[in-house]
Amino acid sequence: MSLKGDIGLIGLAVMGQNLILNMADHGFTVVAFNRTVDKVHHFLANEAKGKSILGAESLPDLVSKLKAPRRVMMLVKAGDAVDSFINQLVPLLEPGDIIIDGGNSEYTDSERRSKDLATKGIRFVGTGVSGGEEGARYGPSLMPGGNKEAWPYIKDIFQGVAAKADGQPCCEWVGNDGAGHFVKMVHNGIEYGDMQLIGEVYHLMTAMGLTQEEMAETFDQWNKGELDSFLIEITRDILRYKDNDGQYLLPKIRDTAGQKGTGKWTAIAALNYGVPVTLIGEAVFSRCLSALKSEREIASRKLRGPSTCKIQGDRKQLMEDLKQALYAAKIVSYAQGFMLMREAAKVHNWNLDYGAIALMWRGGCIIRSVFLGKIKEAFDKDPNLSSLLLDPFFLDAINNAQSGWRNVVALAVNTGIPTPALSTALAFYDGYRSERLPANLLQAQRDYFGAHTYELLGKEGTFVHTNWTGKG
Ligand code: NAP
Repeated sequence: MSLKGDIGLIGLAVMGQNLILNMADHGFTVVAFNRTVDKVHHFLANEAKGKSILGAESLPDLVSKLKAPRRVMMLVKAGDAVDSFINQLVPLLEPGDIIIDGGNSEYTDSERRSKDLATKGIRFVGTGVSGGEEGARYGPSLMPGGNKEAWPYIKDIFQGVAAKADGQPCCEWVGNDGAGHFVKMVHNGIEYGDMQLIGEVYHLMTAMGLTQEEMAETFDQWNKGELDSFLIEITRDILRYKDNDGQYLLPKIRDTAGQKGTGKWTAIAALNYGVPVTLIGEAVFSRCLSALKSEREIASRKLRGPSTCKIQGDRKQLMEDLKQALYAAKIVSYAQGFMLMREAAKVHNWNLDYGAIALMWRGGCIIRSVFLGKIKEAFDKDPNLSSLLLDPFFLDAINNAQSGWRNVVALAVNTGIPTPALSTALAFYDGYRSERLPANLLQAQRDYFGAHTYELLGKEGTFVHTNWTGKG
């Protein structure tokens, strides 16, 4: 009898090829397929040569080469391509077979696909895959959700190929329907936030007159403490990188940021669920503002700011303040991200394990950091923690960081250096710790012009309307 595959993988672009090689390295036999079949031939003759990888000429060929229950994973462009493959696969599969989408799909699409396929007896898994090409090859962070009946059949493969942090796989079952892709979306949103915060710190360091090597050295030092993370590490390397002409490459790069949409989806979800995920929102808008390069060029010649945009003062103290500002704002960003997941979990009845999510992000993915280990500890201690800010460790950390953080935001405001993420994090922090906010006035205004009514303190649940003008 011919050898049968443990799993089929559709999509031989960067992610698919690397994940197949990773699966093969872990002892699984993979059947590879791609819309453009030539890529299958090329892959088999080159990267896959000598490995436990089979090729398929068509989808029926792919399905015929798999063990039952069949496991078919897609790593193709998110959107129509996923639905198209699902529609072609369903008639070829049997009840109990499993379709896995590992692309960056919207969680609402995964929810729809999971429900539709369940009616046909097919088990759907929508899984977040993070870590890019390198992660896919040597250990990604995997966030599977969908039909839980599929989990026992894919667990060994997923946890086998996933990154390991503290000896544990960065992969655990997340929850029903779209939960895996939701968690991956929030991960990407947090990634936007982390990158924006580092960008703002770089901007401030430039205004302080640091050389690129001094900045790189600072990030190198920071990477040895509580800010130890992949993004800090690569920032150090980027700062040190010199072009063929011996000049630093970074200042030559056009200052307009691209985006593929997952940050925007997180901000939209935050608005939809009514959760103040302000830092990721600012990170997305900052990319939008950066893209208005030609308008900014005109405005830079016309709009005035403070007389100096140079930051002066005790360099050592300023660097310490910057570090504290970055750390505190990062805590706020993660607190907001977990608040969003908590609210979505309530709406969708997902039983999310926040400690396990922190562990999934601890290794393999772009936001991997030592810091996530602390988040895991916080949720392990108290799985019902309503906000990370209330965990004793983070409460202390933010308390210790806040004077430096306030100093940095004030300096930025006074020198006209935009720090939307650092600033919004501080505004959120101050709002969150305020027993009273000026929303009483908003309620009065709403009642004045729209008779929307308001509640009186101590008489919640009773709605009152006032005739504010006294006119009949
Ligand atoms: P990609 O460039 O997003 O997609 C290319 C693959 O999709 C090819 O196999 C292509 O087939 C197939 N495809 C595109 N349009 C199709 C259509 N209409 N019908 C059928 N197949 C179609 O590949 P990728 O960068 O490897 O990413 C794969 C998935 O993983 C994406 O959803 C991506 O967002 C997600 N992801 C990517 C990264 C990353 O770092 N790249 C990280 C995490 C997640 P052909 O060869 O025939 O064109």
